[in-house]
Amino acid sequence: MKKNFFSNIELKQEAQQRRLLLKMTTASMLGMGLPLSGTVNAMSGLVKMPPIPENVLNPVAALERLMKGNERYVTNNSTPLNFKDERFDLVRGQNPFACILSCSDSRVSPEFCFDEQRGDLFVARVAGNYITTDFIATLEYAAAVLHVPLIMVLGHESCGAIKAAIDATDNYEQFPGHIQSIATALTPAVRAVRKTPHYVGNNRYFDIVKKNVVLNVEELRKQPPILSQLVDSKKLKIVGGVYHLNTGKVELIA
Ligand SMILES: [Zn+2]
Repeated sequence: MKKNFFSNIELKQEAQQRRLLLKMTTASMLGMGLPLSGTVNAMSGLVKMPPIPENVLNPVAALERLMKGNERYVTNNSTPLNFKDERFDLVRGQNPFACILSCSDSRVSPEFCFDEQRGDLFVARVAGNYITTDFIATLEYAAAVLHVPLIMVLGHESCGAIKAAIDATDNYEQFPGHIQSIATALTPAVRAVRKTPHYVGNNRYFDIVKKNVVLNVEELRKQPPILSQLVDSKKLKIVGGVYHLNTGKVELIA
């Protein structure tokens, strides 16, 4: 009993040492690439670590990590959640590696569907995943201040906001309260996918979901002054994905 107790302590100490070593190695390898919170103090020679060193990634590596996380989620191999260990690191700041502009739909959960934990994703959500001035400001903050290298606009199958926009555009349906403003904001996507005999069943509906993602990605990429500049200098990647409800798979479409 006593022996087990001490070997547990030793295992714990080993794990802590590994974690510290990983942090030091990562910070040293990354050098100048550290985010705002990870500045080198020239006077003391000390390096201030970002809260999560493994989140300091370039745009390509960030997208690769996101999609690998989705693969784990799809195959039911998600990492067990551990809230206790990460809490301490996150007290002094945040350095998420990706920003997700997602629909608010309760069936789409960015942290789950990319198998990430607190501190990893900067998430902005609105029904219909479309941009407004406030959302652009939120994404600018993530990209310019937190140095997030990747933004993904994430739509999904059977989106109720898109359905409302289709009904408003095709049938002049009116919605109560402020809901109409969502339907109106999404009409460019509905208009861009013309109603023709080619579209039967759910095809047109899903094509509008995808078109809405593509239009918002395009809009964000050329959004001055912050996002367009970061995209041009290859410090930021903006992509679009759609979430498939039946499989959990995120399909990259832009
Ligand atoms: Zn939706």
